[in-house]
Amino acid sequence: MADLRQGGCLCGAARYEINLDGHQTGNCHCTDCQKNSGGPFMTFTSVPEGQLRWISRPEGEARASDKAVRRFCAKCGTPLTWDGGKGNNNNVSTGSLDDPSGLEISYEIFTDSRWATIPPLAGARQYKRDSAGT
Ligand SMILES: [Zn+2]
Ligand SMILES: [Zn+2]
Repeated sequence: MADLRQGGCLCGAARYEINLDGHQTGNCHCTDCQKNSGGPFMTFTSVPEGQLRWISRPEGEARASDKAVRRFCAKCGTPLTWDGGKGNNNNVSTGSLDDPSGLEISYEIFTDSRWATIPPLAGARQYKRDSAGT
């Protein structure tokens, strides 16, 4: 049985369905995520290609770097996805899931810009930059 769940933005205009089989969840401490969320880090869940489907697509789209597109609800501003192009375009903001229960945060990236007041998450793999070391 696939672990099928739904998620969406605060106002309900943008909705998706995601199959969490083989998912990975991690915290990103990069400065772009700090600005985009207004908090110390963002938590994303990535799934293999083809396992994320929009029920109603968000209209907001922002490009903070040449690497990635961030999609958000243009009505309420909720950050929804981080799209890094081919092979890396199935990352949803974990907090947008209706039910994130049972999701373990297994890694943290861009810890170089972690807030000094936020300690490393126990048991999570730590990467100074991205998990590929780039
Ligand atoms: Zn919305
Ligand atoms: Zn980030």
